[in-house]
Amino acid sequence: MPRVYNFSAGPAMLPSEVLEAAARALLDYQGKGFGIAEWSHRSKEFEAVVDEAIARCKALLGIGDSHDVLFLQGGATQLFSTIPMQLAGGRCVDYLACGEWGKKAAACASEIGARVNIVASSEDTGFDRVPPAETWRLTPDAAYLHVCSNETVHGHRLVELPRHPTLIVDASSEFMSRPHPMERIALIYGGAQKNLGPSGLVLAIVRKDLYERIPAKGLPKLFSFKAQAEQKSMINTPPTFAIYVLLEVFRWLERQGGLAAMERRNAEKARLIYEAIDGSGGFYRGTIADPAQRSHMNVTFRLPNEELTERFVKEAAAQGMLALKGYRTVGGIRASLYNAMPLEGCRMLAEFMREFQRRCG
Ligand code: PMP
Repeated sequence: MPRVYNFSAGPAMLPSEVLEAAARALLDYQGKGFGIAEWSHRSKEFEAVVDEAIARCKALLGIGDSHDVLFLQGGATQLFSTIPMQLAGGRCVDYLACGEWGKKAAACASEIGARVNIVASSEDTGFDRVPPAETWRLTPDAAYLHVCSNETVHGHRLVELPRHPTLIVDASSEFMSRPHPMERIALIYGGAQKNLGPSGLVLAIVRKDLYERIPAKGLPKLFSFKAQAEQKSMINTPPTFAIYVLLEVFRWLERQGGLAAMERRNAEKARLIYEAIDGSGGFYRGTIADPAQRSHMNVTFRLPNEELTERFVKEAAAQGMLALKGYRTVGGIRASLYNAMPLEGCRMLAEFMREFQRRCG
């Protein structure tokens, strides 16, 4: 079956090997005569899937007993909505708001009545950067600092995570695309649909000392990291098939050599596209002010006008490179190069960019 290169920001490509294993498991799981999506989440078969997924996740991240691994629902949006409910404790909460998602998470905390302090924003320059950490206006006794480590829409990333006693990271669009410094992280979470699996599943990794802050009353159990950890994410029926696919992705990541190997490969993939931008003499214009902050996952750039942008998207699609249109409110081009995007897909896109410029530049 021919596969196209899908540059969608999510749901996005999954590795072919993972899809093949998942397709087999959907029909018949381990020769048992039933498919993995058809069986009780309380069965020993599914419990083994959860146990293995937790163990492999911890091994990939290099963590032991300090954190719990949770498989949740409701998307990253629900997850960031529950953070202030669980962890603010009436204190001020700090948010870095340098892109669509950092801003949305902060707005959500405000909506539910948390006292939100924006430590830095780049909205007045079109969310094109993260200001230097020395300029952030941190609250000395904030309950936590929330950052989005890779801004999916605008295309920049935090090269290095800040230090904070309670650092919370939305890593949705770069989860496991590089090693995460877990010794600095109190909570890291992401919707699976970009780097890790199908939509409908959120991976959250929670440092256990956070549990003591979670209010005992007034919070649905489903939203409590502590209650979810105590019941291995099975207070109610979890998204069993998505968790199974996630396990296959973890196995695949290990076969690729782990997260450090992914980081090297992803850097090489991104370099190919940024080189095509920088070598175009201004025909393609990158949108991020400081090249050091350019995302390795979501490469954003513009063409000279709307007409050429549309033509670029259409012609690329005709050659099997899909979903290159930028975010609906931002426009331009966005090429998402998550873990499952092969190097070959990036080579093909870079070559298409040069060829398109020769014809239209
Ligand atoms: N955070 C980031 C960084 C994202 O890219 C997205 C989705 N694009 C979200 C949060 C929201 O995810 P969901 O749709 O799963 O709620």
